[in-house]
Amino acid sequence: MIAGIELGGSKTVVAIGTAEGQVHEEWRFPTSSPAETFQQAISWIAERGTPESIGIAAFGPVGVVRGRDSYGKLLATPKPGWADFSIIGTLQAAFPQARLTLETDVNAAALAEARLGAARGLDDIAYITIGTGIGAGILSGGRLIHGALHSEFGHIKVPRAPKDSFEGVCSFHGDCLEGLASGPSIAKRWGLAAADLPADHPAWAMETWYIAHGILSLLGIASPSRVIVGGGVSQAENFHQHTEQLLHSIAAGYFAPLEATPYVVAPLLGQQAGIKGALLLAGI
Ligand code: ADP
Ligand code: ZN
Repeated sequence: MIAGIELGGSKTVVAIGTAEGQVHEEWRFPTSSPAETFQQAISWIAERGTPESIGIAAFGPVGVVRGRDSYGKLLATPKPGWADFSIIGTLQAAFPQARLTLETDVNAAALAEARLGAARGLDDIAYITIGTGIGAGILSGGRLIHGALHSEFGHIKVPRAPKDSFEGVCSFHGDCLEGLASGPSIAKRWGLAAADLPADHPAWAMETWYIAHGILSLLGIASPSRVIVGGGVSQAENFHQHTEQLLHSIAAGYFAPLEATPYVVAPLLGQQAGIKGALLLAGI
């Protein structure tokens, strides 16, 4: 039996399925305390059998290097009660025979979109989410990459959009990419939730500026052959086309991967990317 767990900031998904990402049965429930959330997930899985492998897609920051003490442990998360909680330790105690593989939620989504979705068949892609936070998962040469920690794409520095003097909302850096372009930053800067801003509002040109510059850095470092952008904010009208247009303009004819069009695309798997990614992780 193969199981997957997607641990999100507000909801958790557990599933039984195949290592190819097919979901046989799933259950979605609100994320509460770590102990309660994992007790619910473990009971649900145990009622269905004994898993030989479990893939976990988790919000971060979380230890992702297998073999280290920090593997599967939540790090300095501002989410109350979660810092230092060991996902791997808890699951290993409940399922001692199971092989456990944990990645960030965005890396899992990148894997799912590359195998089954908007980047099917590609080995070098990035998956970016723009919602409450900003993050990126990177598949390079067919492998999900991380260093000592996973990438922290949301916290890179980007050049200021013309005339933007907003201080930013990141509690660590103020005006990093997440501080200037996440959903909460849009709401604070303009006094209206991103979902409620009309398509012709100046907020969108500014948002496109920040995301295109973020992608330009990613392109310069990881050279993905396609970039998938998901998350609530990316649902704004023509978001992907506008971001791609600006990206082409600031890339100034450099960066060969940009010759593939469309380059900036929407996800295909939607709500299913995380849990399908978790099942695929179980097969790695
Ligand atoms: P989370 O990161 O918590 O999972 P989401 O990915 O759902 O959150 O993103 C939530 C953000 O997306 C909010 O800032 C919301 O205003 C914004 N949003 C939701 N729908 C749209 C839309 N159609 N157009 C623009 N922004 C949207
Ligand atoms: Zn930051």
